[in-house]
Amino acid sequence: MKTLSQEVSTLSMQLAETFSIVDNCLEIGGISLERLAEQVGQKPFFVYSRRHIDERVNLLREHIPPQVSIHYAVKANPFVPLVHYMASKVEGVDIASASELLIALNAGVDPQDISFAGPGKNDADLKQAIAARILINVESENELHRIHAIAQTLNERARIALRVNPDYRLNSSGMRMGGGPLQFGMDVQYVKAVLGVVRDYPEYLQFEGFQIFPGSQNLNADHIIEAQHKALDLVITLARESGVMVQRFNLGGGFGVPYFEGDQELDLPKIGLSMQQLVDKAEAAMPGVEIILELGRYLVAPAGIYVTKVVERKVSHDVVYLVTEGGMNHHLAASGHLGQLIRRNYPIVIGNRVAGETVEKVNVVGPLCTPLDVLLNQGTLTVAHPGDLVAIFQSGAYGLSASPVGFLSQTQAVEILI
Ligand SMILES: *Cc1c(COP(=O)(O)O)cnc(C)c1O
Repeated sequence: MKTLSQEVSTLSMQLAETFSIVDNCLEIGGISLERLAEQVGQKPFFVYSRRHIDERVNLLREHIPPQVSIHYAVKANPFVPLVHYMASKVEGVDIASASELLIALNAGVDPQDISFAGPGKNDADLKQAIAARILINVESENELHRIHAIAQTLNERARIALRVNPDYRLNSSGMRMGGGPLQFGMDVQYVKAVLGVVRDYPEYLQFEGFQIFPGSQNLNADHIIEAQHKALDLVITLARESGVMVQRFNLGGGFGVPYFEGDQELDLPKIGLSMQQLVDKAEAAMPGVEIILELGRYLVAPAGIYVTKVVERKVSHDVVYLVTEGGMNHHLAASGHLGQLIRRNYPIVIGNRVAGETVEKVNVVGPLCTPLDVLLNQGTLTVAHPGDLVAIFQSGAYGLSASPVGFLSQTQAVEILI
């Protein structure tokens, strides 16, 4: 056993301090974590803070040029009350399924400002999208033919944008979603032919612009800036070569958040400055174009904490294990199994003893009968016992909805927005 709380990871302590700490217990929206646990019926839960969402949106508005629209990517967190809240804060939302479409419509988002991306939209999905008059980001020529056929049966004019898989990569992304062979979007070489199809059916297809989404979870401002300028240059070239009018240009997002010790916050002021030049260049080449920045985790990850109670404390070969009520079945990402190549620890504290006098190295594991169910591997926490509450930060995105909740049929988790 060691002493002094500075050994708890710096990132964990920094994130804890973005919430209030009262009597050594985390407080969210004026309610202590212990009281929240009672409120939700002592189940594992995700709590999302409106104040954190506000701060994030305000930070973006402060640095991003006012001409740029901010869209929320619902897939990051589709919790209905949260989407309703986001809808009041941003100019539009991006959806990735027909169910997310209904969430967006129920949140009162104007169909004009909803866009739909995804490499496997089936005919039923497309029909719903066309009937709702939202923008479809088309990912292949064949998809466009299906859209045309459905639009004809509905006697509607489908609103479309082309999602282009660029020839470059957004370097240092947590996930690559553009550049090289991918299921997303169409390669640059096919764009001309696809625009030919659009031109053949003006009564059923309404072209509005382009989407380019090269990567996700990026903390390198220079790489993001470079990718944004390349995207704009590509769209300007495509527009000039094909003579189309571009009303909307969705230049992706990819803004990352610090998940691991040593990660640095994204340099937003730097990106904001560069985006001013980008806006000017876009306006000169495509007057009246709406530029859209599409963000998921950057908006909501810091607002969320996953909370799960310690049910067992045990020692095995000198290693202390805290076994909690929920684990990878609620929070796959924190277990390291959602896209990470090397497992690293998410920021975590004992929520009701944030800065304890005595700390120790522990493993925090979930209740599942699999060694994959790890929430913390050899991390430093305040000494904890059954009944204490483990709190995992940066859990507002890709948490519950990205987890195998049916695995082992354990306790379901609860979500609240406060
Ligand atoms: C996943 C995704 C997003 C959101 O990514 P974040 O890393 O959460 O910002 C945005 N747009 C598209 C097309 C996506 O697939």
